[in-house]
Amino acid sequence: MNDLSVMLRPQLNRKPPPVYQRILVYHGVDRKGEKKLNGRFISQKELELHFRWLAEHCFVASLEEYCQGRFAKDRPTVLITFDDGYLNNLELMLPVAQKYNLPVTVFVTTLYRTGQSLQWADLIDLTAFLDGQDIDLQGQIFKLNRKRQYRSTSTGQELKAFCKRSETSVIQALYETLSKRTTFQTDAQWDVYWKQLSPKGLQQLGMSPLVTIGNHGDTHAILNKIPIEEASQELKVSKIYLENLLQQPITAIAYPNGNYSPMLIQAARQLGYHHQFGADIVSSTVEQKWGIYPRLTINPYISWYNQRLAFADGGY
Ligand SMILES: [Zn+2]
Repeated sequence: MNDLSVMLRPQLNRKPPPVYQRILVYHGVDRKGEKKLNGRFISQKELELHFRWLAEHCFVASLEEYCQGRFAKDRPTVLITFDDGYLNNLELMLPVAQKYNLPVTVFVTTLYRTGQSLQWADLIDLTAFLDGQDIDLQGQIFKLNRKRQYRSTSTGQELKAFCKRSETSVIQALYETLSKRTTFQTDAQWDVYWKQLSPKGLQQLGMSPLVTIGNHGDTHAILNKIPIEEASQELKVSKIYLENLLQQPITAIAYPNGNYSPMLIQAARQLGYHHQFGADIVSSTVEQKWGIYPRLTINPYISWYNQRLAFADGGY
C-alpha cells in the first residue's frame, strides 16, 4: 500500500452527504426533558445535541434565506422553527442557538394582547399531570383515562380535540374552570411548561440577530375551525400588535395545529403573510398547490439516530 492510497482511502469510502431541505418544528425546552407531560418539550441538553449536529452537517438557513430558495448544494439545508412562544425559548433555547451561531424562527401567539398568559392546551396538560380530577365543562364531564387523556363520559371525545372544534366561549369556560382549581401558576418549578413570552421577553428575543419572529395566531385558535371573519381578524390584530411591539414587518405565519384552508391562505396573503407554514406533510401536491411550506415536528420519544433518519425522510 503506497502513501497515496492511504491518503485517498478514507475519501473513496466516504458516502457523499444527502442533500435535502427540511423545516424542523420544536416547541418548548426544559432542563430535564419531561416527556410524560406532553410531547412538546425536549431538554436543553438534547437541544444542544441537535444544534451541534445541525451546525456541523447542515446549512442552517434563516427564514429569509430559506424562503428565497438559497439552499446548499452539497448538504442538507435546514430551517429551525419554534412554535408557541414559550418564555423558555428566550431563557433556554437562545443561549444554545448563540453558542452554535444558528438562525432560528420563532412563531408566537399574541395571547398577552388578549389578557391571557397561558395556552389552553398547556392548562389541560398540567391539570392532567398535577390534578387528574374530572373536568366539568359546561355540564359535560371529562374523565382522565389510562393514557392520561381527558375523554368525555358521554361522547368519548378527547378534550383537546373537542376544544379545537369549539367556539371561543367554550375555551373561555375552560380557562375559568381550570384556573380556579390549579395552583401551578404560583409554583415556579412549573413555569417552564406554560409561561409565554411577555411583550418585553418577545422584544428581547426579537432583538437577537439570530432570531426571526413569525406569527402563530392571536389566541392559538384552530383557524380553519372558526368563522373566516374571526380567523382573518386574528391574523390581522396579531400582525399589527407584533409589528408595533417589535418595530419590524411580520411576513410569516405558522398555522396553529397546522390547520389551514384555501380561504385562509388567501386572506393571510392579502394581509401580507408572504410565507405560510403548515405542520407535517399532508401531501406534497396539496402544499405545492397552495404555497404552504410543510414542516417536520421533532419527536422527543425516539432515538437521536431515528430522529436523524426522519430529518432525511421528512416523516416518521
Ligand atoms: Zn402551536
